[in-house]
Amino acid sequence: MIDIHSHFMPEVTAAEARAVDPARAPWLRIAAGGRVGHIMLGDRPFRPVHEELWNPDARVRRLDADGVQIQVVCATPVMFGYGWPAALAAEWARRMNAKAAQFCAAHPARLKWMSQVPLQDLRLACDEVVRARRAGAVGVQIGNHVGDRDLDDPEMVDFLAHCASEDIPVFVHPWDMMGGGQRMKRWMLPWLVAMPAENQLGMLSLILSGALERLPETLKICFAHGGGSFAYTLGRVDNAWKHRDIVRQDCPQPPSSYARRLHTDSAVFDQGALRLLTEVMGTDRVMLGTDAPFPLGEQQPGALVNASAFLDTGERAAILEDNARAFFSLAPPGH
Ligand SMILES: [Zn+2]
Repeated sequence: MIDIHSHFMPEVTAAEARAVDPARAPWLRIAAGGRVGHIMLGDRPFRPVHEELWNPDARVRRLDADGVQIQVVCATPVMFGYGWPAALAAEWARRMNAKAAQFCAAHPARLKWMSQVPLQDLRLACDEVVRARRAGAVGVQIGNHVGDRDLDDPEMVDFLAHCASEDIPVFVHPWDMMGGGQRMKRWMLPWLVAMPAENQLGMLSLILSGALERLPETLKICFAHGGGSFAYTLGRVDNAWKHRDIVRQDCPQPPSSYARRLHTDSAVFDQGALRLLTEVMGTDRVMLGTDAPFPLGEQQPGALVNASAFLDTGERAAILEDNARAFFSLAPPGH
């Protein structure tokens, strides 16, 4: 199995974070014993974490136990730094990418990494994505928006075109969720309600803007969490496209016809959802993604795919491994 969606965070110290942004730069507070800790934002604990997040040996022990041969890791989204001055974010991205390379260097056959880039600045992002690829990154992870700019923003589209021309796969992760405020305060609602909508917004902004008409078909782009709300609400979008010219104005083909230009991971936790997702995207466009090592991820990698009787043996193998090999141009097993 190849898991294409997992996160790492290096051991950033409080002083290192404070030097960048005292209130918002993330750092790791590791408890005595070194096994558990917290991601901190300034003085505020953001999320409890355990050593699989920062310790590559602990990570590979888990991969061994789970039967995962290769895991692709990328930054935890609080590390993006898109709200910082671009030069500062570029320097931070370079540093985090070096730490990602170091994390994977401990087990190069098992751990691969995607880079992060200062997406708020097109030129710096294009420079860093190529530099990181030369340093060993197998792809790049980006957030689905920078402030009010979604993936249809001209600079974002230029960045995606640049990745396509350099043959660098792109993984889009939702972050900085919409709808903050009192209505989303409890029960992890931003992760449960807004995050799937962020995914859908990213995918629809590419489709309805006509950006996919301008981007080359060689662009490899994958969305996290099974594309969030995308597959389930695509009928609603097609219906709106048919009946309202303001939905059609920039998008010449029915929205659903563009689904096969995109990939998603398989992190949907429900067989009915996976069935719909594979019908909408195609079984060649869905890849195992666990969101490890966080508790909102698939705790037994591959269990959902393996339990899904509507998929034949070849389709399961495609989702669990073969599609990821093609997407990230990974060598076949044994090479
Ligand atoms: Zn994730």
